[in-house]
Amino acid sequence: MNAATLRTTCPYCGVGCGILVSREGEGWNVRGDPEHPANLGRLCSKGAALGETLGLEDRLLHPEIGGRQVNWDTALDTVARRFSQVIEEDGPDAVAFYVSGQLLTEDYYVANKLMKGFIGSANIDTNSRLCMASAVAGHKRAFGADAVPGCYEDIELADLVVLVGSNAAWTHPVLFQRLSAAKRARAQMRVVVIDPRRTATAELADLHLPLAPGTDAWLFNGLLDHLRREGGVDWGYLEAHVAGFGEALAAVEGLSLPAVAAACDLPEADVARFFRWFAATPRTVTLFSQGINQSSSGVDKVNSILNVHLATGRVGRPGASPFSLTGQPNAMGGREVGGLANQLAAHMDFTPEHIERVGRHWNAPRMAQGPGLKAVDLFRAVRAGRIKALWIMATNPAVSLPEADAVAEALAGCPFVVVSDVTRRTDTARHAHVLLPAAAWGEKDGTVTNSERRISRQRVFLPLPGEARPDWWIVAGVARRMGFGAGFDYRGPADIFREHARLSAFENGGTRLFDLGPLAGLDAAAYDRLEPVQWPPATAEDDGARLFADGRYPTPTGKAHMLPILPRPPARRVDMAHPFVLNTGRIRDQWHTMTRTGKTARLLAHIGEPYVEMHPHDLAVHGLSPGDLARLTNASGEALVRVLEGTGQRPGSVFVPMHWNAQYTARGRIGALIDAVTDPLSGQPEFKHAPVAVAAYAADWQGFVLSRQAPEGIDSPYWTRIRGHACWRLELAGNRGQWPTEENLTHWLGERQDRIELRDPAVGRYRAAHLRDGRLQAVVFLDRQPNALPPRRWLVSLFERERLSEAERAGLLLGRPAQTETDVGRIVCVCHGVGEQTLATAIARGADSVEALGLALKAGTCCGSCIPELRALLARERVPETTAA
Ligand code: SF4
Repeated sequence: MNAATLRTTCPYCGVGCGILVSREGEGWNVRGDPEHPANLGRLCSKGAALGETLGLEDRLLHPEIGGRQVNWDTALDTVARRFSQVIEEDGPDAVAFYVSGQLLTEDYYVANKLMKGFIGSANIDTNSRLCMASAVAGHKRAFGADAVPGCYEDIELADLVVLVGSNAAWTHPVLFQRLSAAKRARAQMRVVVIDPRRTATAELADLHLPLAPGTDAWLFNGLLDHLRREGGVDWGYLEAHVAGFGEALAAVEGLSLPAVAAACDLPEADVARFFRWFAATPRTVTLFSQGINQSSSGVDKVNSILNVHLATGRVGRPGASPFSLTGQPNAMGGREVGGLANQLAAHMDFTPEHIERVGRHWNAPRMAQGPGLKAVDLFRAVRAGRIKALWIMATNPAVSLPEADAVAEALAGCPFVVVSDVTRRTDTARHAHVLLPAAAWGEKDGTVTNSERRISRQRVFLPLPGEARPDWWIVAGVARRMGFGAGFDYRGPADIFREHARLSAFENGGTRLFDLGPLAGLDAAAYDRLEPVQWPPATAEDDGARLFADGRYPTPTGKAHMLPILPRPPARRVDMAHPFVLNTGRIRDQWHTMTRTGKTARLLAHIGEPYVEMHPHDLAVHGLSPGDLARLTNASGEALVRVLEGTGQRPGSVFVPMHWNAQYTARGRIGALIDAVTDPLSGQPEFKHAPVAVAAYAADWQGFVLSRQAPEGIDSPYWTRIRGHACWRLELAGNRGQWPTEENLTHWLGERQDRIELRDPAVGRYRAAHLRDGRLQAVVFLDRQPNALPPRRWLVSLFERERLSEAERAGLLLGRPAQTETDVGRIVCVCHGVGEQTLATAIARGADSVEALGLALKAGTCCGSCIPELRALLARERVPETTAA
């Protein structure tokens, strides 16, 4: 590593990969850090494309009030004054912060301290509520602390890895790559995937259980009873280390295999096989994620998983643990500083003892005395007018929360909304009275904690653009102006980290697992050099990688707890009017609401439009075909998206990605269709089970625009803007009377005299192109026959030419080359731009493995995120061997 190479951490998912950044010409080279224990040099497609997301397009660069640029003093004075005013007139619970797992631990710590210790309310909640609050509550019920017992190495050491409600191949790709490599290296390793959908993750599975949505607790209860019946329970462990096992076992007694299989809608033989494998495999890791957590009974589902691990004593042992995968880069850090409304800082709770202790450590004038409002309730309180001043940091609730339309209304009606963010144009920022420019990845300095409790540094390699400032600086500036200067006199993140570490050790005496005492004395240079470290930090006796290996738990009795679990169905049932179960989640190459990943063409090459994935049977019954547009509706809202056929989808269930927002599409904010029903303990919303109706959207016309300029001012009922390498693509559809106007055409194509045009009103067809000095600037294709529209790929490729040839000009309004060329098909490998058709041809010519495709086409040889899809293609396209007659 040369001196100019900087070590930092990926800002996306909870795997927390280490990254090396160095200068490359005018840009930045980003690659995996071979020495970081989380990824050992690997990166997924999102991490590998980080260097392409560093531009200042759409950046918020100056503080603004009411859309006018102001200086920092004015902005911070205004925020402090309005918050102080509301607190004085209506009390501290009339204000709130809504923060994010994108914040660094130091930012999170300062925001939490201001709200809970100085304002005197606990109305600070985080978007991590949406991804792992159920795991937090489940851990606390079972272990007495919110702690993941295992480490990533366990996934490689296990003989059985069970993935429940996790499409890790797309959501935690590097961890999935580690699992795939371990499975290749160890013939005895088995993988079971439990998920209603057959996802890319299931391609690795020895057994896939496509259970009925929401029935996970039935399955794990059935497993617990099977373990009891078949001698799989470790009675010695239970007697010594676990309380409540009698009640937990009694609650599942008599749950027969046929009853479990029927409840989960699974073949009995498959359920039996899973039970046998689990019972017979001491080294078992169960990975669980949003498919478990995002449920109105998410906490019980978590505890049904923890129950079977406790019953078998498989907790915190090498290759044997339950393992919650966190979604965000610093969801864990947020949990450590008390970013959730129902926690205090440093893993302390709202008990009188902890409130007093934290208050004393902070020298806080006004400690919150009880939990605040969780995310969904917080925004309900905004809507009801009970919250009169709201500060949103680094998140986009107008897209990501359930009932997103109601959230947008709540923001529109709130008397004072502050948004501190990196991006100027978000669905949330448009409601802000005050906009505060925050530092982005590469500009900010601090720590994050990944899913295996590993704290890593994010470091600065870019100057702060414009007047952007780190979040901790912004919050501390407001705190000082509210009269709390002494508590917020930080010189930098190292000061904050030390205080955070001291608080974790304060009057701890071994009573709280979360103890960063050994790091509390780091000076600025040592903090700067800090290597990735798991908590609790290693001692002479214990490397800190695993927790609870000795069977001692941080509960008053020292024992863990098993809980009797009575499975509950999802809160909302399908009915005649809403016959489909809507499931939402991430796709491989996008992150959250696309404010960063939407900036790179490479990450939109795989999937560019919002879509609904449906089983072929459902498509046939509802008269839909792949490529159609479909309208999804329920009482909460509606969405308009492209139809995709998915054989891995359960009949009756549909999947829509969570990412699209109003900057990229007309009606793709899927949060608008999610009812705000939550788990009663964790407050986590049920994002995986919303009844919806799906109907074909009978567009009168469809079309597309390709343009060097980002198309703006679009008012069609359906549109999606997709960034490409050389041009933008705008997909459009509308009804009779909504055909684009001359003004629209001029906006997209430039003045009329510069156009090559074809108009055929008789069939409802319009095609036009605009060239300047032989260089293509834009094309527009509109048609009442969608099937007459050409594939976009050839036209897109023309934007890479400096000048079109005569032959290319001749084919321009045909939308295809005059001489036939082979279409590469949908892009599968985004790193090397390899399409589905090219891959299929290579497979037909004999490339019979992922390695062979890599050798022939380079596909899958960079970040590896497309490997599950390559495997699926190989399975689908491989020519079966013929046997001699
Ligand atoms: Fe970033 Fe991908 Fe690693 Fe997640 S798996 S931390 S998104 S590089």
